[in-house]
Amino acid sequence: MVYLSQQNYLSRREIMVEEQIKSRGITDTAVLNAMLNVPRHLFVPDDLQAMAYEDHPLEIGEGQTISQPYIVAYMTEKLKLKPTDRVLEIGTGSGYQAAILAYIVDSVYTIEIIPELALMAKENLEKANIVNVKVKCGDGYNGWPEHAPFDAIIVTAAPENVPRPLLDQLAEGGRLIIPEGSRHYTQYLMLYEKKNNKIRSKRLLPVRFVPFTREKE
Ligand code: SAH
Repeated sequence: MVYLSQQNYLSRREIMVEEQIKSRGITDTAVLNAMLNVPRHLFVPDDLQAMAYEDHPLEIGEGQTISQPYIVAYMTEKLKLKPTDRVLEIGTGSGYQAAILAYIVDSVYTIEIIPELALMAKENLEKANIVNVKVKCGDGYNGWPEHAPFDAIIVTAAPENVPRPLLDQLAEGGRLIIPEGSRHYTQYLMLYEKKNNKIRSKRLLPVRFVPFTREKE
């Protein structure tokens, strides 16, 4: 097993930000700063730590994956976050995307349907000293009404269509980013914006995410 020094991980993040993130057009300084500072290697299984800064997704257990760094940066930039924002994430997985959000905004609420992953994410966030994320285990389809409305919502698993309750929990001026489409055909990242109580949508990149699953009734 290869363990690298903290300095080594920092220089790997610098290279990741230059070669994978800036070079593909991400310019939001808050996003670049978060990608540079959040220790991504603490969010992957021990035996994959040396690969944490490579340009692809990685397996995190339970058949799930942590997204490629560029996709995390891209989705985060599209949310146009402000430091005072409250953000909801559906699909906590490793907790890495939540950590990136938490570096930028005031508070993050995140829901994960697989109990083992919800627990692992809590531990990962603790290891990374991130305190402004609340993790809940459950089906995120209905959002988190107790903490709504949210300035931004990010979904990191792909349903066929955006869940209506999530659009309802967006604040005025809020943005929601989500991969939509079936397991077998092309999925697209969709961006929704609520303005004057109307929802506008925009199709962004073709992507490939794990499926959005539902709790059995
Ligand atoms: N954002 C994660 C990526 C996780 S992959 C990270 O940074 O590591 C997507 C996650 O969504 C998986 O862990 C999967 O279990 C979870 N998921 C799928 N359907 C869900 C649902 N209905 N509610 C909450 N989580 C869900």
